[in-house]
Amino acid sequence: MPITTAAPHDDIATADASEFIDDVCRPALDGKAVGFEDAVRLMELDATDVPHLLSWANRIRARYHGSRIHLCSIVNAKSGGCAEDCKFCSQSVLYQTGVDVYSFLGRDEALAAAQRAGGARAQALGIVAAWRGLKEGRLLDQVCERISDVSGDGSVRADASLGIIEDVAVAERLRDAGLSVYNHNLESSRSFYPNVCTTHTYDDRVQTIRNMQAAGVRVCSGGIMGMGETRRQRVELAFELRGLDVDVVPINFLMTFDGTPFEDAAELTPMECLQAIAVYRVVMPTKEIMVAGGRERNLRDLHPMIFMAGASAMLIGHYLTSSSRSADDDLRMLEDLGLTWDWSPH
Ligand code: SF4
Repeated sequence: MPITTAAPHDDIATADASEFIDDVCRPALDGKAVGFEDAVRLMELDATDVPHLLSWANRIRARYHGSRIHLCSIVNAKSGGCAEDCKFCSQSVLYQTGVDVYSFLGRDEALAAAQRAGGARAQALGIVAAWRGLKEGRLLDQVCERISDVSGDGSVRADASLGIIEDVAVAERLRDAGLSVYNHNLESSRSFYPNVCTTHTYDDRVQTIRNMQAAGVRVCSGGIMGMGETRRQRVELAFELRGLDVDVVPINFLMTFDGTPFEDAAELTPMECLQAIAVYRVVMPTKEIMVAGGRERNLRDLHPMIFMAGASAMLIGHYLTSSSRSADDDLRMLEDLGLTWDWSPH
């Protein structure tokens, strides 16, 4: 008489989970919008079920973005001395972090950074400044000159991340100077945001995105994972970004800095990082999902799997206040994965 053995509970759970993943991801592959609770369930899957989710995220990336990965680089154009209190940030005056402090960069430095970025196969250089935001005045004139220097040089596209923009007229000045894409992260979900920053509001951030869009500037906006938010709150952020119809979604993984309130935050596991990228890909199939800060530190040996998880873009070169690995290593990794990069500044 044949002996039948009941399947272990974990196997049953995995079979159910696979069916659920197929049911949610198949429509996403065809460009249909995934519902909030389904996305939360994907974000809460056990690690053993995540590889199946990754296989779908990889298919969705391949269908909408092909194998050409967009690369961006940034230059810290004004470091330290910021009066805001973002708790992850080493550049706030409120925290003793020992970060370099210097004022806005000059023309030669901007051009050197643009040419370095182009040499590293980046499409764009993000000019990033540590301050609350920009208003009409001498500083805006200076910023517009630097944007125009970079965009006129032609090595890379001129992008920027300059904080809160309260006035569409300021956004139009930046656009007219040659700005292509403006980065302004929401950082986290609306419900978690009070734990992240108290000196400006979530709505200040949302309004900045709307003001840039009103001026016809494309927007790059995402957040940081690993600040203590729940998995559901990661999905809340994804839906906020989908609702705002931003063009590029950078996902950062918290890099802790001594002296900041988040210095002791626990790192996410590499599988949790991949899962977050994959869920964002499923929620926003056609958008550029960019993996930015903290990828090597948090993903460790699983770092090349970010593309299988659905990433279509990557930040290369140096991050704001910390070094990343060399651009050559990243380009070799893409070649090893059978991927390539899109190098035309557009
Ligand atoms: S506004 Fe920008 S530079 Fe200032 S503390 Fe916040 S993240 Fe850091």
